[in-house]
Amino acid sequence: VNEQRFLERVRDIVGDAWCRTSAYDRALYRRDASFLNADPLAVVLPGTVGEVRAVVRTCAEAGVPFAPRGAGTGLAGGAVPLPSDRRPISLSLARLDRILSLDPQAAVAEVEPGVVNADLSKAAAAHGLRFAPDPSSQIASTLGGNVATNAGGAHCLAYGVTSAHVLALELVDTGGDLHLLSSLAPETDGYDLRGLTVGSEGTFGLVTRAWLRLLPLPPETRTLLVGFPSVRAACEGVTDIIAAGAMPAACELMDATAIGMVEDYCQPGYPRDAAAVLLLEFEGLPGAVAEGVEAALAAARGRGAQSVSTAEDDQARALLWKGRKSFAGAIAQLVPEYYLHDVVVPRTKLADVMDEILRIVAEHGLTAINVFHAGDGNLHPTLLFDRREPGVFERVTAAGAAIVATAHAAGGVLSGEHGIGIEKRDFMCAVLSEDDLHVQRRLRAAIDPSGLANPGKVLPSPASCGDAPPSLVPEGAWV
Ligand SMILES: Cc1cc2nc3c(=O)[nH]c(=O)nc-3n(C[C@H](O)[C@H](O)[C@H](O)COP(=O)(O)OP(=O)(O)OC[C@H]3O[C@@H](n4cnc5c(N)ncnc54)[C@H](O)[C@@H]3O)c2cc1C
Repeated sequence: VNEQRFLERVRDIVGDAWCRTSAYDRALYRRDASFLNADPLAVVLPGTVGEVRAVVRTCAEAGVPFAPRGAGTGLAGGAVPLPSDRRPISLSLARLDRILSLDPQAAVAEVEPGVVNADLSKAAAAHGLRFAPDPSSQIASTLGGNVATNAGGAHCLAYGVTSAHVLALELVDTGGDLHLLSSLAPETDGYDLRGLTVGSEGTFGLVTRAWLRLLPLPPETRTLLVGFPSVRAACEGVTDIIAAGAMPAACELMDATAIGMVEDYCQPGYPRDAAAVLLLEFEGLPGAVAEGVEAALAAARGRGAQSVSTAEDDQARALLWKGRKSFAGAIAQLVPEYYLHDVVVPRTKLADVMDEILRIVAEHGLTAINVFHAGDGNLHPTLLFDRREPGVFERVTAAGAAIVATAHAAGGVLSGEHGIGIEKRDFMCAVLSEDDLHVQRRLRAAIDPSGLANPGKVLPSPASCGDAPPSLVPEGAWV
């Protein structure tokens, strides 16, 4: 089937308005929030699960690949329509955006994939409930994207990442068939296909419905900002606070560059004289919250904490969080672009790994900001750059590779929450053996024998695992 005939069939299914091929429309969908991008054959936005299935069947008949897309806030190039043998369509699930049911008694929500994360918690709050995974992109990213990347968030330290909150999924496979993975019962019969699909980054097909666990809103919340004289002291503070048994619901670290940047941007009241701050939140029953705060402050003082401010009401709390959540937007004041890493290390190695990361950044003559989910050991060194500066992109990618190698050597992994996508794909050769990769490729082929679901993502080709250093930007993707 030639491309024109294929597109005519797709238009018959979704209607002309929802199959877009103009240069302008294709440009809008060629990238996610990373700097990777590629030109789709078309942008297709089905409005029902029936249309999704029919589009996927048409792709299968024509041999056209598809790149699933939610809100396009991904940071690993997962939704980028990377060409393989053929140019994929960008297949957006954004129009499937209904909360189908919300059962307060069972604390379960049934949602379509295009529902924006924060909208679910807003709807659940009316019943004293919330959806705990709260990526910092939660006002834009979709639940389908969160499921596909197994998203994390500030409060995932206490409550677990997305996977822990997904009871069951509906998946359209590459043949267009519909599968129900798992059920509302607390256990599964047979293999846990729901668990496999969470975090599969669109390579198994399309998530078209999810049944999500909701949690009660905490009776009490205390939010504090603790200033430290060095990044090292703040990192050691994190390890000590959690080792002391004071389990915060959230424990985020921001360094001095980030503090100055968000103060200039939205004045959240962070201490400009601190080398790092920890934003700590404790939740639960009043007595337990007070005990947690006390134990955490004692541990922090043991590492030289120099200032503490506490949010006295919801407005003050929201302002402290505004500082944390607006750091990515605030970067635009300084430079046009950034490369945000997502490695994870054991929490006890945080201080040493951060020392090494700061050394790598300096060695490459770069500026970085560090704002990260410290309690989870999930680092986000964010390298700032302006590509008009000759040679800077090469230094950014070299520093990135050194950061990944450092985290791996410390017993860490490539991604805590953003996924592998295109960006970390070739690094998989360094962290998994050829035997392990072979098993992963066979698993993927068993679920998607056609290879049409998000080709080029997550798994490197056997050829790319040679002696050559990992290539950050595979052929076909533009930077
Ligand atoms: C400022 C900022 C802050 C961020 N903070 C966090 C954070 O704290 N935690 C975190 O985890 N991430 C964070 N992210 C990254 C991003 O928001 C998450 O990865 C998010 O889960 C992506 O959702 P999305 O709807 O934008 O998905 P997209 O970017 O559109 O897609 C992401 C991946 O999911 C696949 N996909 C999307 N929808 C479906 C579907 N219905 N079925 C199958 N596959 C699908 C895509 O193919 C792609 O591989 C942040 C991003 C930004 C820009």
